[in-house]
Amino acid sequence: MASKLSPRLSPAAPMGKVWPAWRLCSCGRSFLCGGLGSAKATLSKCRANHFELADLELAAGDATLAATVFIILSHAGQKHHERALQQQLRERGASRVITVYGHVCGEKKHMGRIVKHNQITMFSVRHRWLRAAWSAIRENVRSPTRAVVYLECNAFFEGPTLKPLLDALVAPPTSADIRWMGWRRVHRASRWKFKHPNEVIEGSKAIGFVRGGLRRMAAALCNTPKNAHAYSDFDAMLCRRIAAKHIIRSKPSLFGVRRHKSAPGSRGERIISRPAERRRG
Ligand SMILES: [Zn+2]
Repeated sequence: MASKLSPRLSPAAPMGKVWPAWRLCSCGRSFLCGGLGSAKATLSKCRANHFELADLELAAGDATLAATVFIILSHAGQKHHERALQQQLRERGASRVITVYGHVCGEKKHMGRIVKHNQITMFSVRHRWLRAAWSAIRENVRSPTRAVVYLECNAFFEGPTLKPLLDALVAPPTSADIRWMGWRRVHRASRWKFKHPNEVIEGSKAIGFVRGGLRRMAAALCNTPKNAHAYSDFDAMLCRRIAAKHIIRSKPSLFGVRRHKSAPGSRGERIISRPAERRRG
């Protein structure tokens, strides 16, 4: 006799219907497949486009503007920001500026779940931005790429030249191959708040990668054993998974931040902060 205290069983799951189903590739991309045949074809197609982390190793030597690739992560709703940023860089002598359109918050599904607001940047970097970086490095075999700069479209640069940026790419120490040049705020690591020794840089507005930095970032991003489909805040993830000696932060931030229209709670597009205003840290 079933008592009121016994746990309620959930109704039986509908049987028989297995497809369409989500399938996860080893690279972390997921696909909604209609059947076994299409799943096999889709995954082998994805595998054919995989690239090795070793291919992301950048050439040694001081970064010049010609040897630096700027890759802006944007999306369709932010084209005006991205164009302004492109113009700012080109006017100051940057020749290799690329735009990558990332996924839009609330639209992209991963393994059947909507990719959340705090996951969308990491997701877009992993599945779109990294590939663009890889092709940019590969295309320029004659003039080796010495630095790759990740930029978010709502960052802006106001200085008269890009010299401070180039200086920031070559500043000591050499152990730091990830140069965080645009940020919003810094949280000192605390035992209670963040259970790791690094300070946490908030806002991944501009990050320069030199030597093994890009590879290091990609490894931290892609090598997530067990939870291969876990996505979180891109900036916090980098600070958590990469040793402090590999990250150096420009003081103050070289880039300003505009309000992002797609961010929840955002009111308009006004400037949140200018480089000169950033004195914290
Ligand atoms: Zn894949």
